[in-house]
Amino acid sequence: MMTSITPPPQLAHIYELLIAAYGQPQWIPDYDPLGGLIGTILSQHTSDRNSERAFQQLIATFPTWEEVRDADTEDIVEAIRCGGLASVKAPRIQAALESLTKQQQQAGGTLSLSDYLRDVLLTSSLEDGWHYLRSIPGVGPKTAACVLMFNMGLPMMPVDTHVHRVSQRLGLIGPKVSADQAHGIFAQMTPPAWVYPLHVHLIRHGRQVCHAQRPACETCFLFKVCLYVAASKSKR
Ligand code: SF4
Repeated sequence: MMTSITPPPQLAHIYELLIAAYGQPQWIPDYDPLGGLIGTILSQHTSDRNSERAFQQLIATFPTWEEVRDADTEDIVEAIRCGGLASVKAPRIQAALESLTKQQQQAGGTLSLSDYLRDVLLTSSLEDGWHYLRSIPGVGPKTAACVLMFNMGLPMMPVDTHVHRVSQRLGLIGPKVSADQAHGIFAQMTPPAWVYPLHVHLIRHGRQVCHAQRPACETCFLFKVCLYVAASKSKR
């Protein structure tokens, strides 16, 4: 059963304005956490388009994750070359698969790696599932949260550079809170059903309006509730 969380007033107000402006997105997980995990590793430091191409190329070359794990690393590098940083990502992917295999064997399981990971996440608490994913080599707080939210439909919000920047400016998190630390803060203050819409909309707002350099505050619908604007005014 999901816990009920009462959001702080600033978050509630901002959420309402984001939904009014951008609508209610549909949260449709695919329940493929291992595919999501590998896809997220492939997406590091590259565009969505390139990482998707690398992912498709990888699964076309190696139809199962067990085959990816056991392949020659150079063959993995070749398969994912179009995604960039292939020589870093290929051993990272294989290390993650090796680690999962060890845990699966220790648990005495006979499931495929994919089914094993899904099973672990479905039977763990949200926090335990997050820690479990983070115990896999190459999986940081954001990657673990991406798998939980996008692939399992669980309310752990990934904090990327857009979510981090916009949240700080809006005063949802403190100015010294790191992106990694922000995961725990959002987990405590965000009602579960808000997690996906809030994530999607903060990213959209960061890309379209609240740019890293020169945010478009004069046309922003969050202008009146934004601490960044209030702080800028007080400096004048
Ligand atoms: S008012 Fe400016 S700083 Fe605040 S959210 Fe909008 S664009 Fe970003």
